[in-house]
Amino acid sequence: MAAITIEPQHKCAGRGAESGPRCLLCGLGPVELFLDLGRTALANQFTLPGQPAAPEYPLRAGQCAECGHVQLLDRVPPEAMFRDYLYVSSASSTLTAHLGRLASAIVSRARLNCEDGLVVDIGSNDGTLLAAFGRLGARRRRGVDPAANLAALARSKGVETDVAFFTRATAERLAASLGPARVITATNSFPHIPDLDGYLAGIQALLAADGMFVVEAHYLADLVEQVAFDTIYHEHVSYWALGPMRRLLDRFGLEVFDVERLPLHHGQLRAWIGWRGRRAVSPAVEELAQQERQLGLDRRDTFVRFARRASAIGESMRATLGQMKRSGVRVAGYGAPAKASTLLAWCGLGPELVEFIADRSPLKQGRLTPGTGIPIVDPGEIERRRPDVLILFAWNFAEEVMEQLEPYRKAGGRFLIPVPDVRIV
Ligand SMILES: [Zn+2]
Repeated sequence: MAAITIEPQHKCAGRGAESGPRCLLCGLGPVELFLDLGRTALANQFTLPGQPAAPEYPLRAGQCAECGHVQLLDRVPPEAMFRDYLYVSSASSTLTAHLGRLASAIVSRARLNCEDGLVVDIGSNDGTLLAAFGRLGARRRRGVDPAANLAALARSKGVETDVAFFTRATAERLAASLGPARVITATNSFPHIPDLDGYLAGIQALLAADGMFVVEAHYLADLVEQVAFDTIYHEHVSYWALGPMRRLLDRFGLEVFDVERLPLHHGQLRAWIGWRGRRAVSPAVEELAQQERQLGLDRRDTFVRFARRASAIGESMRATLGQMKRSGVRVAGYGAPAKASTLLAWCGLGPELVEFIADRSPLKQGRLTPGTGIPIVDPGEIERRRPDVLILFAWNFAEEVMEQLEPYRKAGGRFLIPVPDVRIV
């Protein structure tokens, strides 16, 4: 059999890294490159067969030498990414349950007077979180999301949604028509914001004097510890740690008054934010800041090591799948989250090595993975086509997925978990 040669376009940054644009957090910089993932298609741009290939953009991660904020060096216009969106919160039962618990935690902590208190969810997706607030009695709710297709889903659940990016103008319009918000939430959309100043000016305009702004974002400490390089894609312009977040908020008169680390989605940072001096600040805030310094999240060498481990995963995936192909082992995938797009591109995997990827989302079925062209099918195809190995691209939900696929495993099927080390179970 002919040798399989795969030449992904990537490199790790060593010393003398290039410097990118000004830092999107502090406006200073320079932003120093540590991982160059090459040119890739947008991670959620699943194309239809026969459509032209999705356009590719450079994907490079760096750290600001001034404030330590980890971010992308290249910007893609948000309109290209968020106007039509295929990631639906309610598709994951784990996420739906998590958002239900978040709503409960906020209602009890904010002592939200459910009859009156306005709750605004930024990046409200299909309305899953606001629907949970509704079940707890919150009547005044408003979603903000730029994706018209998702807003329509939210409205079908009774969640009124503005189709817009959250900017100062959006916030001022909401404040004028609805009054100040007792609660503003941003779950998993905070990493998406290219104009942080405009966004925080919007929070200033909308947040009530006794209001709280609750952010959940993939936590940089978990990203580094898990080598979750595949969560780096164009939508995620920021990779949040507490240190840079506090610096940003301070400029807007806001502060983090409590923090939690959560296991969801590779590990999340939940930051409880209010007007500076308004609430007692939990000791947990300073403890986490101290841990971040111990982990070296403010230091470049931490990220150079991270990039080396990402390279090792790419090499191991290519070697493992090449060997399987030569041995006649048939490989498919399960789950086509956005991070699968980064992983596939980084490892140089296409349909010649991964026959298909099964995904529960009907919005993705019948489409192809962005740039790498692997067909996405209904999970029923696993039973029909019986691959020997399934790569779990949603490795953060590995336990949930393996439980769902127990019949496949009982019939002799194996799973490949790619991150943080390639392993077969
Ligand atoms: Zn900076």
